[in-house]
Amino acid sequence: MKPAAFAYAKARSLDDAIRLLGAHQGEAKLLAGGQSLIATLNMRLSSPSLLVDINGIAGLDGIFVKNGMVEIGAMTRHVTLERSSDIAKFAPLIARAMPHIAHPAIRNRGTIGGSLAYADPAAELPACLVALDGEIDIVGPGGKRSVKADDFFKGLFETALGPHDVLSAVRFPAADAQTRVGFAELARRHGDYALVGLAAVAKAKEIRLVYFGVGATPVRARRSEAPLASGSVDDAVKALDLDPTSDLHATGDVKKHLAGVLLRRVAGALLGNA
Ligand SMILES: Cc1cc2nc3c(=O)[nH]c(=O)nc-3n(C[C@H](O)[C@H](O)[C@H](O)COP(=O)(O)OP(=O)(O)OC[C@H]3O[C@@H](n4cnc5c(N)ncnc54)[C@H](O)[C@@H]3O)c2cc1C
Repeated sequence: MKPAAFAYAKARSLDDAIRLLGAHQGEAKLLAGGQSLIATLNMRLSSPSLLVDINGIAGLDGIFVKNGMVEIGAMTRHVTLERSSDIAKFAPLIARAMPHIAHPAIRNRGTIGGSLAYADPAAELPACLVALDGEIDIVGPGGKRSVKADDFFKGLFETALGPHDVLSAVRFPAADAQTRVGFAELARRHGDYALVGLAAVAKAKEIRLVYFGVGATPVRARRSEAPLASGSVDDAVKALDLDPTSDLHATGDVKKHLAGVLLRRVAGALLGNA
């Protein structure tokens, strides 16, 4: 299929992008890697009057490690994260997740900002950012603000971004010697979106368990975190308070069972027994 007709503008700066979005009153869309957007245009699930290309804006990409934090610019491509030694060292959860995101051709263009803004409930990076207790920088007509990842994902494909906002960067604590991470997912074929996935971070006595593919947003399995932190994997699995809906790929009960399987797979790494 072909998309409906649209105009195209290349933004020269963040201010320019925000101005272009505002001038089209909710009818314009940002174009980042295009790996989700172009598919939705071609299927006519979306028909914006204007695409605002943010690929030429200087300073929107890059990986920076400073003051115990990792900051990643919105236009940083998946492939850059996958190959970065800083990500491997300071964000091992993201390093583990990257090979599960689609295929190399898509990772060459797709961006972290696009992935978070699109907020597919089965996507890896939104869950990773919640597990990392990260925050997201947003620039809009009213200036810049930061939103905790816990508060960013509002519903199915719905985030804290307004129609004239640009996600500019993400930030989260850098891994140190005390940090342990766990990542596992089940997909029908490698590179497909997950049926069920789990991104998890353990620091000292705190564990954050965040599932994807089991709800409208990343879902934190809070009731399982304390039992797991105290070393009881069986109790943590029993306490899983997930209520996944059935879809074409699996029933809710199957997904809940698989969530327990994934928790057992990552438990050893999180508890330092792997
Ligand atoms: C066949 C296929 C398989 C895939 N499999 C997976 C998978 O397994 N896991 C996974 O996570 N993803 C998967 N993807 C999606 C891929 O990771 C996309 O790259 C990503 O979801 C969107 O990033 P993008 O940069 O391409 O954004 P785009 O497609 O350009 O944009 C997506 C949406 O986000 C908005 N947007 C983009 N950037 C910003 C920004 N900085 N600020 C505000 N809004 C913005 C756009 O306006 C648009 O609405 C797959 C894609 C394909 C085509």
